[in-house]
Amino acid sequence: MAKQSHLHCSFCARSRDEVKILIAGQEGHICENCVEHAQEIIAQELNIKPENGNSTGSNNFKLSVRKPAEIKKFLDEYVIGQDEAKRILAVAVYNHFKRITQKQQIGIDDVEIEKSNIIMVGETGTGKTLLAKSIARMLNVPFAIVDATVFTEAGYVGEDVESMLTRLLQNCNYDVAAAERGIVYVDELDKIARKGDNPSITRDVSGEGVQQGLLKMLEGTEVLVPPQGGRKHPEQKMIKLDTKNILFICGGAFDGIDRVIAKRINTNAIGFNVNKVEQEMQRKNLLQFINAQDLKGFGLIPELLGRLPVVTHLNPLDAETLRNILTEPKNSLIKQFTKLFELEGIALKIDEAVLHFMVSKALEYKLGARGLRSICESILTDAMFELPGTNETELHITLDYAESMFSKSKMSMLKVA
Ligand code: ADP
Repeated sequence: MAKQSHLHCSFCARSRDEVKILIAGQEGHICENCVEHAQEIIAQELNIKPENGNSTGSNNFKLSVRKPAEIKKFLDEYVIGQDEAKRILAVAVYNHFKRITQKQQIGIDDVEIEKSNIIMVGETGTGKTLLAKSIARMLNVPFAIVDATVFTEAGYVGEDVESMLTRLLQNCNYDVAAAERGIVYVDELDKIARKGDNPSITRDVSGEGVQQGLLKMLEGTEVLVPPQGGRKHPEQKMIKLDTKNILFICGGAFDGIDRVIAKRINTNAIGFNVNKVEQEMQRKNLLQFINAQDLKGFGLIPELLGRLPVVTHLNPLDAETLRNILTEPKNSLIKQFTKLFELEGIALKIDEAVLHFMVSKALEYKLGARGLRSICESILTDAMFELPGTNETELHITLDYAESMFSKSKMSMLKVA
C-alpha cells in the first residue's frame, strides 16, 4: 500500500489518492480525468481535421483514402482487365474524397472542388457492379446498389428515387454521418433514358421524370428519407440526409450506343462483309470514344449528364479475360471451390484444359463471367455431393470428366443463344 501512494498520473501528475482510477501502462500511468480529456481531443480532432489528414468518420466506417495508384492496385486484386475504367475511377474517387476532406479543413479556401459522379458504360456482366463494390469495400464507406428501372416519377406506381438512400441507410445501420459520404451504384441507368426525341408527346413517368429526381440527388440536396422505404408507411418519421458528399456511380449497357458514337465520329458501325467477331471488335473500339454527347443522343437529359462529369467504358470480356477471372481475383471461383473441398480434407486439382472448356462454354452460351459459376457448379456438384464422408483426399478434374459432367447437366440442355 505504501508503494501505491507514490504512484501518480504521468499526464496531470495527480497522485493515486487524488484520482479514482489509475491505469498502468508500460512506463507510466493515466488517470480517468486524462482519459476523458484525451477522448475529447480525439473527437474534436476527428471532426475538424481527420486523423493524419486522410481518415474520418464514425467508428464502424473509418474512411481510408488511398492514392489513385493504390486504388487501382486494390481493384486489380478483384477485377480482371478494364484498366482504363480502373484508372478513371481511381482518379475520380480520389478527387471526390479529397474534396470531402478539403471541406473539413478549417478555413475553407475559395476554390470549391465539384463532385465527380461517374457513368460506366459496358455490356452486362463486364464488372461494373464489381468495380463499384470493390471501391466501397476499399474505402470502407457504406454502399448501396440500386436498380434505376424500379423508380418512377413521384405519384406513380413504383419507388421514389429517394428510396435509394433508404437502402444506403439500412446498409450502415442508419449511421447518418457515414451514409452521407457513402457510395450509391445506380445500375441500368440506360433504362431511364428518354424515349423518343420529343419529351412532351406522352407522360414519360419512368424516364425523364426519374432523371429529374436523380438530378437533384446528384447535385447535392437535403432529402427526407423514409427509413423503411416505399410509400406504404406514411406515418414513419423521415430521416434527413444530405447528399452533397455521396458519390454516385451509374452504370448501364446502353445497347445501341455504338451507332450513336459511330454517327458522331462519322464511321459506319456495321459494315458490309463484317463478321460477328469483327463487329464486336468495332463495338469495343467505338465504346472507347464515348462521351457525354453520345449519352445525350441516347436519351439522357443534359442537366443530368452535367452532374455526371466522369464517363468511362468497360470492354466486353474475351476468352483470355474469362480464363483469368476463373483463377486470378483474390476470391476467384476456383479459389472458392478449392477452399470448399479443402474444408472436407480434399485437395482439388483442375487441369488447364478444363478451365478453357469452362470459358468456351461461357462464350458459347453467351453467359459471360456470370455464367462461369453455374458452369463450375455443373461440373463439380456431383463430387461435392458424393465425396464428403468418404476417405478421398484428392479430386482431379480432367477434361473428360468435365465434359461428361457438363453434358449431364441441365445447362447443356440450354439452347445456344
Ligand atoms: P455488371 O454490373 O457489369 O453487369 P457485374 O459486376 O455484376 O457485372 O459482374 C458479374 C459477375 O461477373 C461478378 O460478380 C464477377 O464475379 C464476374 N466478373 C465480371 N467482370 C469481371 C472482371 N472484369 N473481373 C473479375 N470478375 C468479373
